[in-house]
Amino acid sequence: MLRLTDIQLPLDHPDTAIRLAILKKLGILDEELLSFEVFRRSYDARKKSAISLIYTLDIVTTKNEQLITQFHGDKNVTRTPDTNYQFVAHATNQDFLRPVVIGTGPCGLFAGLLLAQMGFRPIILERGKAVRERTQDTWGLWRKRELNPESNVQFGEGGAGTFSDGKLYSQIKDPKHYGRKVLTEFVKAGAPEEIMYVSKPHIGTFRLVKMVEDMRATIIALGGEVRFSQKVVDILREDEAIRGVILENGEQIRTNHVVLAIGHSARDTFEMLCERGVYIEAKPFSVGFRVEHPQSIIDRCRFGPSAGHPILGAADYKLVHHASNGRSVYSFCMCPGGTVVAATSEPNRIVTNGMSQYSRNERNANSAIVVGITPEDYPGHPLAGIPFQRALESHAYILGGSNYNAPGQLVGDFIAGRASSEFGAVQPSYKPGVQLGDLSSALPDYAISAMREALPAFDKQIRGFAMNDAVLTGVETRTSSPIRIKRNDIDLQSLNTRGLFPAGEGAGYAGGILSAAVDGIRVAEAVALSMTK
Ligand code: FAD
Repeated sequence: MLRLTDIQLPLDHPDTAIRLAILKKLGILDEELLSFEVFRRSYDARKKSAISLIYTLDIVTTKNEQLITQFHGDKNVTRTPDTNYQFVAHATNQDFLRPVVIGTGPCGLFAGLLLAQMGFRPIILERGKAVRERTQDTWGLWRKRELNPESNVQFGEGGAGTFSDGKLYSQIKDPKHYGRKVLTEFVKAGAPEEIMYVSKPHIGTFRLVKMVEDMRATIIALGGEVRFSQKVVDILREDEAIRGVILENGEQIRTNHVVLAIGHSARDTFEMLCERGVYIEAKPFSVGFRVEHPQSIIDRCRFGPSAGHPILGAADYKLVHHASNGRSVYSFCMCPGGTVVAATSEPNRIVTNGMSQYSRNERNANSAIVVGITPEDYPGHPLAGIPFQRALESHAYILGGSNYNAPGQLVGDFIAGRASSEFGAVQPSYKPGVQLGDLSSALPDYAISAMREALPAFDKQIRGFAMNDAVLTGVETRTSSPIRIKRNDIDLQSLNTRGLFPAGEGAGYAGGILSAAVDGIRVAEAVALSMTK
């Protein structure tokens, strides 16, 4: 197969245009082109009056070898690389202590799936509930102000990204094409086929729920075990090696291989690991607010007259500002046509995040606008980022009225330094509600001043971004893990605990659904190699 890249066509091209573009590029006859498929489709919206689609195509012709020679040196005509996933090992017998995976977020799910596919029958432990019951509990906070600390947006089957926009892209380097394996498994589990080729795929929250259930069924059919409401509260660590885990109900599971895929909100588990002597370091993360604008403003700014085109969908953005006090302010986890969600896992705290449905057709665009912070801002103990986060989340709870409403402020008032009392053109989507007021005490002073500078700067890139009526809600504190549970680069085991494989977002090795899932695959391979050597 040959791969053609950078085939540009107008946004509204007819279906036949792709075939004609291939013939023209290669100078071949129609009967010489046997088949083609779209490997990737992205768009170039720099010129709003003439947005183009850019294709990467895999094609079969009657003269592939001749074309390879003819186009030698043309980087847009190459041989299609083999992106099929190859397993690194298989269990040849059943004479082993079963590996344990802690967590069923994207990292744990993929680690579990791959171990099951390689015949290692993993035991997967999840502190939260199965996804349908978990959905009810999550709505409990959004609709009735009732938080279940073990079953919420952060904890439960599917992990943190289940109630999300389901964005499936990442900037990680992926020379082994693990991302392709992730997308392939997601499609098998019910994701739309288009995630295989659109440049910025997303799934939306409803489909994710069904997909997670499908993947669980696959793991069980392959001999794995998935257990819910089974929190790991301790580990058995002897001679700098893992020997097992202890569950909250007292049960001990003996094992020599544990994948630690616990996400960034398992603060009690971080504390336990630290007490048991597992090597942990503080790491940088970011804090900030969610901002909501009418989606139409973003669409018009990004797509001009083509705003609303079905191929383009709701527009996103990515913004960065380097503030004069040295802090970086950037947009994060942008959710086009979505809603802001209550994402705390701890009582009497407020945490914001964003989600959307596949259709992305809600009125507002939202994203986190966050400020980078480093361990110098929370010096001392490796876990010092956690009390830093907790203090902000507790203060936000009080600012919001101590009833799970999020504190909010209009962007115009925030920049001018005055409290807000009335919503304007933008109605916030956060449930159970938003209490307007003054957010200036919701973050450290350096973060507030950096954001006051960044919002008008963003308005230069997206006109209307600093509009008076856009709504800020806070606080966004769970942008990534405040710690790194360090592992070595070769066999991916903890620096000082053999058999413990820190993985995914909580361990500081991923940020987002795709990268967490990819890390799950890498770690499953490392476990399999360790079990078969
Ligand atoms: P998690 O998904 O956090 O999973 C960890 C799991 O471990 C949890 O289910 C937890 O219950 C379990 N666990 C923790 N401790 C224990 C224990 N002691 N015993 C047993 N089980 C335990 N990313 C994107 O790429 N795109 C998006 O659109 C997107 N939107 C998001 C929207 C929201 C509302 C949120 C909260 C996050 C979003 N993210 C998004 C981020 C993404 O969800 C995370 O990066 C990803 O889920 C991390 O995967 P993980 O498997 O490492 O950890």
